[in-house]
Amino acid sequence: MKQQKPKQKIDYKGLTALLSGKVSDETEMERWDYCESCPFLSEKNRCDQCGCFMRVKVKFKKAFCPIGVWGKEE
Ligand code: SF4
Repeated sequence: MKQQKPKQKIDYKGLTALLSGKVSDETEMERWDYCESCPFLSEKNRCDQCGCFMRVKVKFKKAFCPIGVWGKEE
């Protein structure tokens, strides 16, 4: 019998961040460094806390970490 994965919640506030501007390459890499070493990052680079795909989310100014590891850029 095939095991089903639990459904992940989608953080719609996080998704609206996709409509904002992008951060610099340095900020993107700094954020990604945090996520890459975070225990909540899944094998598919998805955050278990917000359900977002972090390789994309770290690019946007209004995006933020749901547990406060990194924040929005004003
Ligand atoms: S957004 Fe925050 S909780 Fe999610 S993987 Fe990145 S550092 Fe971890």
